[in-house]
Amino acid sequence: GGFAAMNLSPQILKGIKKKGYRFPTPIQRKAIPVILTGKDIVAMARTGSGKTATFLIPMIQQLKCEHSKKVGCRALIISPTRELAMQTAKFFKQLGGETTDLRYTILVGGDSMDNQFSDLSNNPDIIICTPGRLLHIISETGLSLKAIEYVVLDEADRLFEMGLGEQVTEIASKLPTPRQTLLFSATMPAELVEFTKAGLNSPTLVRL
Ligand code: AMP
Repeated sequence: GGFAAMNLSPQILKGIKKKGYRFPTPIQRKAIPVILTGKDIVAMARTGSGKTATFLIPMIQQLKCEHSKKVGCRALIISPTRELAMQTAKFFKQLGGETTDLRYTILVGGDSMDNQFSDLSNNPDIIICTPGRLLHIISETGLSLKAIEYVVLDEADRLFEMGLGEQVTEIASKLPTPRQTLLFSATMPAELVEFTKAGLNSPTLVRL
């Protein structure tokens, strides 16, 4: 049961090979098949476990490796920090940036809003963001999240520890249903359990 047995499209397998991944990590082996069925998941996974590829690989598959002009942004990845968002974007570029024509944009604080507006006019399929800047962009531009199908909350415990829980909840209230939501967290504090009950649809718990 390697990546080749996971029913992934050839472009994705090519990206995985390019990145140099030969075998899935334990979290990838457990979570990717569940994510590919369309189910919500809560994954207890730390940095270093291969969590980023765990959500990027099935995301690329769910987006059918193809840029869509008409619908707008279909995937949203929420990170607690600018650095983590940049790192995730780098991984996406390596895994799917050359073997697919999917477009992404990074919406984080500290970057020019003007550049971010012009990136958005390029019809990205994927938004990789921090919560505050995403909300700011929404209030400035009326950016719609109505086409979002796939949502990742990365390092969710840090999002809540950093006091970003209210912003995350506000973003969640703007998302359509049905959608697929994946929550990655090393720990599960009470407020995160509450959020999970309200914001996810009967998630499968994946732990190692
Ligand atoms: P992450 O937990 O997402 O921060 O990933 C930790 C490190 O593991 C990164 O350097 C990844 O590129 C690497 N990695 C992720 N998946 C695999 C894999 N299947 N095989 C080898 N390295 C991997």
